[in-house]
Order: sequence, then C-alpha cells, then structure tokens
Amino acid sequence: MTEVALESLRDLVRAGLADPDAERLDEVARAFRIRVTPEMVAASVDPAVARQFVPAIEELEIGAEELADPIGDEARSPLRGLTHRYADRVILHVTRICDVYCRFCFRREVVGGEGLLSEQDLAAALDYIDATPTVREVILTGGDPLTLSPRRLRAIVERLGRIDHLDQIRIHSRVPVVAPDRIDDELIAALLGPVPVWIVVHANHPSELRPASRAAIRRLSDAGIPLLSQSVLLRGVNDSVDTLEALFRALLRLRVKPYYLHHCDLARGAGHFRTTLAQGRTLMADLRLRLTGIGLPTYVLDIPGGYGKVPISSDHLTEESPGRWLIRDPAGGMHRYADPVY
Ligand code: SF4
Repeated sequence: MTEVALESLRDLVRAGLADPDAERLDEVARAFRIRVTPEMVAASVDPAVARQFVPAIEELEIGAEELADPIGDEARSPLRGLTHRYADRVILHVTRICDVYCRFCFRREVVGGEGLLSEQDLAAALDYIDATPTVREVILTGGDPLTLSPRRLRAIVERLGRIDHLDQIRIHSRVPVVAPDRIDDELIAALLGPVPVWIVVHANHPSELRPASRAAIRRLSDAGIPLLSQSVLLRGVNDSVDTLEALFRALLRLRVKPYYLHHCDLARGAGHFRTTLAQGRTLMADLRLRLTGIGLPTYVLDIPGGYGKVPISSDHLTEESPGRWLIRDPAGGMHRYADPVY
C-alpha cells in the first residue's frame, strides 16, 4: 500500500490509476483538485472506487444546467463559513480541506481552496449560533471537519457545548472510510462533550469499507457516538441494486444507520455520474423488496439553487413528461428539473 496520498496526475499515472496517454486529462487535473489517500488507493483495485477519485475527460463537459454552487450554500450564508437554510439548523464550514477530493462533489469548486475558517470568522459564526435560539443543530461539513486537529475539534465542540439551545452537533465526514488512522483516542475524546455529536459517514461502495475503515467506524461506535451514513447515487459506481444492498448491509453490521442516498447534484463537470430520477426510484423500490426498513436510506434531492432538500417521492415530484419533473420545495415553491440525457 502506498504510504502517502496521491495529489497529482503524475502520481496517479505512477500508481497505475490514470492512463498516461489519455488526452486532455492534464486540463481536468488543473480544473479540479486531486487527492487520494493510501486507503483509497488500495481500494481502487475496484474500478467503482477509482472512478470516484481519478479525473476523467468527461469532466470537461459542462452542462448548461450545471452550477458552481448547486445547492445554494452561498445564497443562504449570513456570515462567512455559515449556511442558514432552515430555522432549526445551520451548516458550519470549519474547513475547506478534505482527505480525498471526489470527482462528483457538489462543493468541488470550493473544497481544497481557502483551508481553515479563520479564528475571527469562526468566532463570529459561533457567536451567531449562540445568539440565535431557533438553531437547535449545528452541522459541521465539507470540506471534511474530521481533518481538523483534535485540539481544534475539541475547542469547537466545547464552545458549542456551552450553548444551551443546541440539541446536537452533526459531523459529515468521509474520514472514517478514507483515512481511518485519524480516528484515534485523541480525536474521539475531542468529540465527547455535553452536546451529543452524531457522525454521518460518507460511503458510496462496499469496496471502500476495508478492514481499517471498518475498525475506525467500530471505534466511533464503541465510544457511544451515534452513526448514520450518507451515500451519493453515482452512475458507474453504485447504480445497481446489488451494490447498494451490499453497501447498506455492510453499514448496518457496523452499527451505522443508512440515512441519505443523495441524487447526484448538478455540480459542473459531474454529468457522467448522474443517473435519472426514475432510475433512482426504481433502485429504491427494488431495495425495499430486499432490505429491512432500518437498512433503507431516504433518497433525496437538493433542489438546485438552494431551495432545500426533499425526499424523492410522489409527495414532492410530478413527472410532467419523460425525464422532466416538477418538484415542490419544503416551503411549497415549485421548480422544474430535467434528467440527464444519454
Ligand atoms: S466534501 Fe466530501 S464529497 Fe466533497 S470532496 Fe470532500 S470528502 Fe469528497
């Protein structure tokens, strides 16, 4: 197993993960950051894992409907590093750094950029949360919050722990899967404060769950941290009922409740990962015939433009014509959405 992360096209070629003769791949590499941890290099013997991290020429195809900020984080940002879309919760972007850079990421144009939120901006965001009693939950997310040092994490968890109106802190992270060695005693201790921390583990394919990743997830669970998962439905990666079933069963065995299956967002250059909504619904219907209810995530769509996340169900979706949908947002607004055309 390689011992350091791969961070360039040359690294990927040397590791046998990228084709040295592929045309224009260097353009892709310049457009979007590369990082693959040793754990994911090893998992990339499965092409379904490699596809998530290795640049592809299709990324240069930018669809007219694709957006730099597909879920509208910036439009709902009262302060730097903070997104306040729903009354009872905020997203706090403590860092833009990730241990891996996923080719389909809806924040692909900001991750890896500015690095850590400055101390000043972090203090202002925490003061905003403290002064806003309607906020009951703080979601730390992308970049990846578990790339922070335990010392920094502890400081944030302690500060949030002094805010009486918070019910929980939720951390979305790919770290337990892609960089499991980070999940050590010091990091776990940093997460144990008066406000419970829930971790939502991002995993898309059962091959990502190698022994070290499984052990890291067990360490979190053994420490009493409630665990959920989120996965992105990705064409050519996990768009089969067998793969999704295997993934959700593996997560259940690790005491992780499958929580969200995200429809792939309209990130620029990620069209080759997108399935149709109808394909996703068929997969969910097939999974319901195979899996216990606790193994079934909610299949969700973040309505482009920042209108919120809705379950992909007939309560929120009407198919106007094949591949063209009318979607009702949580506030009752209506939006048009078109499936990719292959
Ligand atoms: S935010 Fe999550 S999905 Fe996006 S690049 Fe980082 S780890 Fe991957």
